[in-house]
Amino acid sequence: MALRTIRALLTMLLLAGCTTMVADPAETAKWQILANQATAHFRVAPVSVQPVAGHNSAYLCREGQIRLAIRAGYVRFRLAHELGHHVLHHCGTSYAQELDANVVAIQALQLWGLSETDAVRETVVFLLEVKKFQGNAQRPGHNVCGEAAALLRRYPSVPDPRLRGDRTCAEEFGGAKS
Ligand SMILES: [Zn+2]
Repeated sequence: MALRTIRALLTMLLLAGCTTMVADPAETAKWQILANQATAHFRVAPVSVQPVAGHNSAYLCREGQIRLAIRAGYVRFRLAHELGHHVLHHCGTSYAQELDANVVAIQALQLWGLSETDAVRETVVFLLEVKKFQGNAQRPGHNVCGEAAALLRRYPSVPDPRLRGDRTCAEEFGGAKS
């Protein structure tokens, strides 16, 4: 009986671990401060940043919460992008919303000290990395190659960050980097 109770508790802990995680409070505070800076700048309500395990960050519009994948790399961009959904009051997912969230993300990155060129570059590099790791198995509303190509069209002074011969997103980018 006791063993069964312990197993049940462990299972509950594991399930809880899928959505939330125990993070270093100082690290959580660091991301929350950046979020607060952005929500103040864009004059929208504050949003709560909740660290999560795994690779998927999300904006929960009804809860006013950003679930931030703090172990998945590119955390600053992930936060900027989800803030974009919050600033634009997005609920649900669509390709148009992803494009718009990326544009706000670039503004948030600049607010945090990046030049416009570096902010666009960080965004495009992130999208290319997602394509390399996830291929066509992307989340609803997402088309990372289309998003990256749209940004390079919008900011024509920012060079294609791919290395020579890289065929990632070649179709959307009009061929391999030469
Ligand atoms: Zn998004």
